[in-house]
Amino acid sequence: MSDEQTKSTTVESLRKALADLGLETRGHKPELKKRLRKAKKKLNAASESSTKTTATTTTTTTTASDQSNPAITKKQQPLDYYLFFDVEATCEENGGFEYPNEIIEFPIVLVDGKSFEKVDEFRSYVKPSINPVLSAFCKQLTGISQETVDDSPDFIQVLNDFQEFMAKYSVFQDKTAAFVTDGPFDIRDFVTKQCKHSKIKLPLYFEKPWVNIRKLFKDFYKQKEAKNIARMLETLDMTFDGREHSGLDDARNLHRIAQRMVADGCIFKTNMFWGPKMRAQQRRARKA
Ligand code: AMP
Ligand code: MG
Ligand code: MG
Repeated sequence: MSDEQTKSTTVESLRKALADLGLETRGHKPELKKRLRKAKKKLNAASESSTKTTATTTTTTTTASDQSNPAITKKQQPLDYYLFFDVEATCEENGGFEYPNEIIEFPIVLVDGKSFEKVDEFRSYVKPSINPVLSAFCKQLTGISQETVDDSPDFIQVLNDFQEFMAKYSVFQDKTAAFVTDGPFDIRDFVTKQCKHSKIKLPLYFEKPWVNIRKLFKDFYKQKEAKNIARMLETLDMTFDGREHSGLDDARNLHRIAQRMVADGCIFKTNMFWGPKMRAQQRRARKA
């Protein structure tokens, strides 16, 4: 391999690692290295402070094609609760990042960190205000009807209801917790955009480190690339239960994937965060 090739592979891998963390990937090699080092340091510190017990790293060499192995005892998970979260939003075909997506479904599957079983669910549809009329594409993709969103509360009301739901279980209060999402999009893009639309600050619980299950799955099963829900299920010889792109069904299927990963010895440690500095960095990058 030539020097030039080595150099480009390294820059490429730095960019890939930054992208996996949802960070800006532009810049020269020293900047990229520094950015990655800082992010990892911060993530480790944040992750440790939000966990009560120290998780031991697993040495299990499980592959995705293995069946759940009863010989692998369930590992102690580091958090009291996990909130599987998968929003749906207004959209248009080929809308791109600039499209002002508004959240129209806000579903949570609350899971106990010890048993990894479902404890409760929260689901609310949400009435959009910027584009209150759903596109045909959006209705077809998500299965959500115009009547449903018309009859739903606005985002601020839904957040209040969600906070009451969390308070019942002392989530993020006496109990440690983390969101689990399919990629960085739900919190980094959809919730952040929606808070701007609703003219509110990002609630503090969305600044806590969370689990990007796509990334965890890729790392745990040593996959070449990150996979969406359907492809993660396929890799595990499982099939989707319910309707794809229904937020609650997506969240339930993420939980099924996670249960299988836990049975295979995976530890659900946080691997992403979205703090104020990162948000400012993203805003600067978008303006540049
Ligand atoms: P998902 O969790 O994959 O169901 O997607 C969440 C949201 O992302 C959807 O509700 C849409 O707003 C948007 N989205 C997903 N797939 C597409 C697509 N192919 N084109 C435009 N928007 C999409
Ligand atoms: Mg999703
Ligand atoms: Mg979805």
